[in-house]
Amino acid sequence: MARTDIIVLGAGIVGTSIAVHLVKRGMAVALVDRQGAGEGTSYGNAGIIEGNTIFPAAFPSDLATLVRIALKRSPLANYHLSHLPRIASWIVAFRAASRPARLIETAQLMRPLFARAVAEHEALAAEAGASRHLSRNGWLKLYRTEEAFAGLAPELALAEQLGIANVALDRDGALALEPALAPVFRRAVHWTGAVNVSDPLALTRAYAARFAALGGLPLSGDARTLHRADAHWRIETAGGPVDAGDVVIALGPWTPDVLHRVGIRLPLAVKRGYHRHFRPTGNASLGRPVLDTENGYVLAPMAQGIRLTTGVEFAARDAAPTPVQLDRVLPAARELFALGEPAEREPWLGARPCFADSRPVLSRAPKTRGLWLAYGHAHWGLTLGPASGRLVAEMMTGATPFCDPKPYSAERFLQ
Ligand SMILES: Cc1cc2nc3c(=O)[nH]c(=O)nc-3n(C[C@H](O)[C@H](O)[C@H](O)COP(=O)(O)OP(=O)(O)OC[C@H]3O[C@@H](n4cnc5c(N)ncnc54)[C@H](O)[C@@H]3O)c2cc1C
Repeated sequence: MARTDIIVLGAGIVGTSIAVHLVKRGMAVALVDRQGAGEGTSYGNAGIIEGNTIFPAAFPSDLATLVRIALKRSPLANYHLSHLPRIASWIVAFRAASRPARLIETAQLMRPLFARAVAEHEALAAEAGASRHLSRNGWLKLYRTEEAFAGLAPELALAEQLGIANVALDRDGALALEPALAPVFRRAVHWTGAVNVSDPLALTRAYAARFAALGGLPLSGDARTLHRADAHWRIETAGGPVDAGDVVIALGPWTPDVLHRVGIRLPLAVKRGYHRHFRPTGNASLGRPVLDTENGYVLAPMAQGIRLTTGVEFAARDAAPTPVQLDRVLPAARELFALGEPAEREPWLGARPCFADSRPVLSRAPKTRGLWLAYGHAHWGLTLGPASGRLVAEMMTGATPFCDPKPYSAERFLQ
């Protein structure tokens, strides 16, 4: 029987970052996953560390967009009709959280985490010998119409207030940054403070290797075996049972699989998303991720090729893939950039774990001794992994948290 201080369940970017921060604070920690570190949702994102993020993704405010989504003609969102009744109350809450005043409130509540996002990654990457995976090139959002660019005014005003660096560009200015783009857009904003990751899997693996080098215990096991044994939590692993006084559940979209077993239900939904890698044609290349705003896809330069990621899909986490959004955006993507052949046969499918208020849960579990929660990072898990890791480790070890953790408490769902 191995005994540790803390078991972290889930070796995605969030769990791995928590585990590293805990060992650095002198804790004996086991990090348990059923596959390799970073092979879940943290593998397939667009690689953007968005220290610049202000407003969360919002429910569409105009009827035309909504109708296009309903008719399954929009690249921004897809849905499985049979799934909608199951997430009806979540969608109502998401719509309420998308009112302008609530978006500003969310931006302010999330700011402390975002403000630390880049610095915490850079510090962890430096000690993990992984800085080569990070580039400080920012990311570029393109607008094909003046109307779409004009809609950005509240975000740019808030960015100025918060001191978030950005440069508004005309078409030529953007083409000077990214000469391989075709001039099919009118405006762009370069969010210069963002960092992009050329290989998110390699980055999480490097953080996991750092965890092991510091004396942490990476273990293979199924988180669903978690149970109480005497005064401890116990998990069954390939190397036998492991006990600890505290457990952190950081299983991303799989967190409910374990939480429901201990009688805790929080209102999580998933926004599924796809990616596919393409070889560029000829010498075409990108220096940074590019978002085609009206079409809702990102082209991100990655170790495996140009990664095309899609918008959101409301469907059951484990339902069969329906990558129709990739087909919907491909013509626009090919018009913008010379994409060649796909690098793999099938698209990748992942599930963003999302609360309707777009805030993660980083706190003790309600009414359960020794249980901590760290999940629900939605569109921002790669960005916020290390900052969340530090915050959770500070709370668990009794240190002064670097920011007020109250906005991220699970208790907000129990009021
Ligand atoms: C298409 C797409 C693009 C995105 N782009 C970005 C981006 O550019 N920037 C950004 O910040 N975020 C982005 N995200 C979001 C980001 O990828 C996620 O928020 C983040 O990866 C969540 O990390 P996690 O550690 O919580 O979950 P995960 O990475 O999913 O980790 C959970 C771990 O739990 C393990 N697990 C599950 N069940 C069990 C079990 N029973 N037993 C043991 N282990 C188990 C899994 O194997 C996995 O390793 C994107 C997401 C998608 C889908």
